[in-house]
Amino acid sequence: MQSNYLLVEWVVVDLFTLQMEVSKHETSAVYHKGGNLVICQIDGHSLHFFYAEIAEWENRGLQKWLRDKLKAYIIDMADRVLPQRLHELEHQHCLFAKKVIVKKLRKCVLGQCYKGYQTIVLSPRIILLPQQYMDSVILHEMAHLKFSHHRKTFWDFLTTLLGEDSISQKRRMDMLMKTFYSYSDFLLK
Ligand SMILES: [Zn+2]
Repeated sequence: MQSNYLLVEWVVVDLFTLQMEVSKHETSAVYHKGGNLVICQIDGHSLHFFYAEIAEWENRGLQKWLRDKLKAYIIDMADRVLPQRLHELEHQHCLFAKKVIVKKLRKCVLGQCYKGYQTIVLSPRIILLPQQYMDSVILHEMAHLKFSHHRKTFWDFLTTLLGEDSISQKRRMDMLMKTFYSYSDFLLK
């Protein structure tokens, strides 16, 4: 898994070195059961898993722990990155929301805009999208700061924000989204 903002790296280390490292990490960052020893560490924008060669990947407990770490990392990065990206786009287009919230939304909802409150809500899962699609979700919600509907004036305005025809952009994106929903569900459920 790799996007502009996410990088997961798997680093194999010899068992002795790994055991020496354990005491330097919080217990929640260490999985140590049976013959399995894995340490997880967030370093800037990337997530590292350090493991020894003996790790049994098919172990259920280990798989759950890895999943939980991955999910927490994605959500943490979404909290950091999405408001920042929104602010960049706000400055580019001189169109500003009063507030941005990153929170889990219903499955097929990637963002919401409360025009009356000039508030934009973004789903953390959009951090898993390729950059141009992530931006297009944010710009779609920004366009709702001006138009609360999906009539022609909305799509025309969104076209100016996207710099390309918003209707054909949406068609392209809808095709991608079918696989994206199951992929992002798998990572974030
Ligand atoms: Zn909309």
